[in-house]
Amino acid sequence: MTGAAQERVDDAVVVGGGAAGLCLAHWLTEAGTGVTLVEAPDGPLRPAERTWCYWEAGTGAFEEAVVASWRRLRVRGPDGEVVESDPAPLRYRMVRSGPFERLVHARLAASPAARVLRATAHEVRDTSYGAEVRCTTADGQPLTLRGRHVFDSRPVRRPPPHRTLLLQHFRGWFVRTDAPRFDPGVADLMDFRVPQPGHGLAFGYVLPLAPDRALVEYTEFSRAPLTTDAYEAALRQYTEGVLRLGRFAVESAEQGVIPMTDGRFPRRAGRAVFRIGAAGGATRPATGYTFAAVQRQSRAIAAAVHRGSPGVPPPHGRRALAMDAVLLRALDTGRVDGPRFFTDLFRRIPMERLLRFLDGGSTPWEEFGIGLRTPVGPMLRTAAELPFLARRETGRSEESPR
Ligand SMILES: Cc1cc2nc3c(=O)[nH]c(=O)nc-3n(C[C@H](O)[C@H](O)[C@H](O)COP(=O)(O)OP(=O)(O)OC[C@H]3O[C@@H](n4cnc5c(N)ncnc54)[C@H](O)[C@@H]3O)c2cc1C
Repeated sequence: MTGAAQERVDDAVVVGGGAAGLCLAHWLTEAGTGVTLVEAPDGPLRPAERTWCYWEAGTGAFEEAVVASWRRLRVRGPDGEVVESDPAPLRYRMVRSGPFERLVHARLAASPAARVLRATAHEVRDTSYGAEVRCTTADGQPLTLRGRHVFDSRPVRRPPPHRTLLLQHFRGWFVRTDAPRFDPGVADLMDFRVPQPGHGLAFGYVLPLAPDRALVEYTEFSRAPLTTDAYEAALRQYTEGVLRLGRFAVESAEQGVIPMTDGRFPRRAGRAVFRIGAAGGATRPATGYTFAAVQRQSRAIAAAVHRGSPGVPPPHGRRALAMDAVLLRALDTGRVDGPRFFTDLFRRIPMERLLRFLDGGSTPWEEFGIGLRTPVGPMLRTAAELPFLARRETGRSEESPR
């Protein structure tokens, strides 16, 4: 790194090149904003390759990275009840983080206004011209990046004070079966035909990639992750006892923990420093979905920077967060039966409306209707108690990539 390069002041420095950092760097560059994206060198800070799924209408900006998509979505109740729907114009899509990163890096490399560096960021602080990011390169050299604005997506160490913190934790197998077992036209979002844990809920998740290939996951919403052995046992039970896959090979696995909380994530960390991505509250508390919110937010930030009024709009609306807080608490206290709740919700509400609601695109009237189709008594009781509960810190964990 030359002295001149170190003196450069970008319009924006983006710290962390995961889902949020890559999306934001992409949209900033599209808007003609000068940007440096700094991503951790290979090592413990870099998460393992992961799968990001989301729904979207039409053709998105990252279509080249979509490895599979499904028009029909299914939920299966604990007793086998099937709720299947085509949420047109929305389509469920899967991207893999590795190809997604390569796609965005290639686009950034083609733009003179963008650069991607590999270094570990230690400190971000306001300065007279904006903010600076102090880093160390992979070969141990100090590096300071300067920007009029810094957008920081490094994961937070502890969740913010909250009333409820559940973890969405899971392990998935990419399987190849000896015989065709899957319908690649339909994805199973929640399959509750699995033994339920004492607290919270559990479900299977099946994303078919071909008649003989799929990502099959076992997921829990509960307070603590399982051991890898316990996930493996649950996956064996699900693939053999429920899906009856016959002989199959596990080609690779993915595991993760996503916090689901009603804590408030500050989006501002300094005069010119903003938090984005999961670290800035982009994870939808009731579902763990983050990727779509990150895309919406990135476009909005890039437009705001372009207008000269940078800021980070909230990733989720107030009403959505209030409804999620009630649901999280109702699940955590056991006042609602999770498998029944989700199966009934998908049966009673058109899938397209429900997915639009989860993307923050529903009207207040539609949200009222969604509220009425939940177990009204336990939900109202929970809503009534929430204002009297303080948000507290707990030692429970942040998102872990493995
Ligand atoms: C296994 C897994 C699967 C998921 N699947 C889905 C899904 O299907 N759909 C969905 O909507 N959400 C999903 N999520 C939730 C969420 O979308 C992801 O966690 C997503 O990666 C969050 O994006 P992010 O940019 O906030 O964080 P990350 O993608 O984790 O990015 C943070 C980046 O910061 C970098 N970094 C960390 N420390 C430093 C440092 N000191 N200096 C420089 N760089 C640093 C890391 O290397 C990383 O690239 C999943 C989460 C996990 C764990």
